Amino acid sequence: MDLFEYQARTLLAVHGVPVPPAALADNPEEARIAADLFGGPVVVKAQVRTGGRGKAGGVRLASTPDEAAGHAEAMLGGMTINGHRVRRVLVVPASEISAEYYLSFLLDRASRTFTAVASAEGGVEIEQLAADRPESIARARIDPRRGLTEATARKLAAAARFPDDVTDAVTGVMLRLWDAFAAEEALLVEVNPLAREPGGRVLALDAKVTIDGNARFRHADHRSLASRQDEEDPLERRARERQLNYVRLDGQVGVIGNGAGLVMSTLDVVADAGAARGGVRPANFLDIGGGASAEVMASGLEIILADPSVRSVLVNVFGGITACDAVADGIVAAFTLLEARGEPVDRPVVVRLDGNSAERGRRILTEASLPAVRLASTMDSAAAEAARLAATGA
Ligand code: GDP
Ligand code: MN
Repeated sequence: MDLFEYQARTLLAVHGVPVPPAALADNPEEARIAADLFGGPVVVKAQVRTGGRGKAGGVRLASTPDEAAGHAEAMLGGMTINGHRVRRVLVVPASEISAEYYLSFLLDRASRTFTAVASAEGGVEIEQLAADRPESIARARIDPRRGLTEATARKLAAAARFPDDVTDAVTGVMLRLWDAFAAEEALLVEVNPLAREPGGRVLALDAKVTIDGNARFRHADHRSLASRQDEEDPLERRARERQLNYVRLDGQVGVIGNGAGLVMSTLDVVADAGAARGGVRPANFLDIGGGASAEVMASGLEIILADPSVRSVLVNVFGGITACDAVADGIVAAFTLLEARGEPVDRPVVVRLDGNSAERGRRILTEASLPAVRLASTMDSAAAEAARLAATGA
């Protein structure tokens, strides 16, 4: 479960990570009052569970309470960032920043352990930094039985080439951040930027935390972090009400598959194919599981197509107990159902069927000759076609 910044920073502060004071505002008037109380310039920050808010205009400096109210009004009046509607803003006294650093801990499934990541060149997104200046990023594996030791923290700080005069402060933050990660059973804690003020103090100016939903029964206090209904993405809510396993992402290719593993690898293949198409990315994760009835397929397609950023859809199914001919019947029936509801499928749908009864499934789709449907024979070609359609629209 991803937390909002305002929740994440509180969780980190409980474990001693230094964060500036802040006030949450639901409306411009509250933002004005908060700015007035803090006195001096403030930063108004959109609260959405997605990154890159700065670039999207969701982090703005205000020198007066009026200006803070104005920024809040602009953000709360319908701003969306990567498809996430801004419903609340955080008002924070502006810090003077002389350098921006990066720190995170994550459960690294590939190396089957916890990993610490640090860089003295924070501020930009870590993926960007990894692409541009991989040598500036230092990593350390953390032995889960011993936790982060001071020696490992110091080694990491040295490898990341933090300036000598902040090493102590940064090492201290690392140890506290690890405490937060371990005690809260997080999957990720990330501070970017960890800002250095001209006086030498370091402060977590942004916080990202993902807590492990499977450990929630051990953390009664995490229940209050579950998103309020009105903060939930409306499409995710609709999907949840229909018991669909759907997660909205910020790309353009809708993805439907059966089985979480297949859907995840489909996301990777789409992202790869999309990179060659100017950065086209998956728009969602939707696992229809074992059942691919017409209703499930119709609900899935309807939710995906309700997302205006979706420009093409990729249905990737490996027939098992639910055979591909049943899935194909489901797709044909879903198209009829949506048509009858007055929401005909208006964007291209690439279908790749493999496994049990794939041949029969393909024949059913060919004979139905649905104008929006294009068949692909492999996962790679399907992803390439879906990415191409999303990029060119034809
Ligand atoms: P993100 O874009 O969603 O990661 O949002 P951040 O909270 O990280 O803010 C983006 C950028 O805004 C930071 O990297 C800083 O450069 C800048 N920023 C945020 N808070 C402050 C502040 O208090 N003072 C100054 N000078 N810059 C800030
Ligand atoms: Mn940030």
